[in-house]
Amino acid sequence: MAGVRTAWRVVDDGDFFCAACGGDRCYRRLAGRRRLTVLGVPVLPRGTAEPVVECVSCRGRFPLTALDRPTTTRLSALLRDGVHTIALALLAAGGGMSTRGTAGTAARRAAVESIRAAGFPECTEERLLTLQAALGAESLPLLDREVRATLSELTPHLASPGREALLLHGARIALADGPYHATERTMLTAVGEALRLSPSDTERLLATALSA
Ligand SMILES: [Zn+2]
Repeated sequence: MAGVRTAWRVVDDGDFFCAACGGDRCYRRLAGRRRLTVLGVPVLPRGTAEPVVECVSCRGRFPLTALDRPTTTRLSALLRDGVHTIALALLAAGGGMSTRGTAGTAARRAAVESIRAAGFPECTEERLLTLQAALGAESLPLLDREVRATLSELTPHLASPGREALLLHGARIALADGPYHATERTMLTAVGEALRLSPSDTERLLATALSA
């Protein structure tokens, strides 16, 4: 006869990754108010209920932390940006964006290949040079900050093989024009830190890439 009912109302919506149906879905964020009801009639307010996220497809309900996980679309965009930023940073560190010589060309070609494969098919060496010119003399500190900013959002959602692969991608660009330069090492260490790899793991991976 008497019970507590929750009346939900939609306060927000958007896209999220639904763990229950396993994909990018629309969600509705619901805020609830509890009321004591007698014979189905609300008689007394009983406070608010924990807000929930409801999947529009499967109607599964989850705590708000479900929104912390990026959608697969967002994750692939983050990954693409990560690859792009690391490539630019290593090119700048190796001088590969300013020298038009053979060494610079090899590094640029390696960078262009990986950037294209990561999802920017329109990337060309010419574009990288234009970008470098636009960044100017401040490109190294700028790119160092950019690497940390881009990777800080991505790193928590990647398992260690994914994080290691990103460091190795940077290492390959650095190595395209010969052994690591001091500035390339510094930048790769920054990349390793941003990927939350331990200093010894970073060292090990860089040594592996060098001997490959
Ligand atoms: Zn769902």
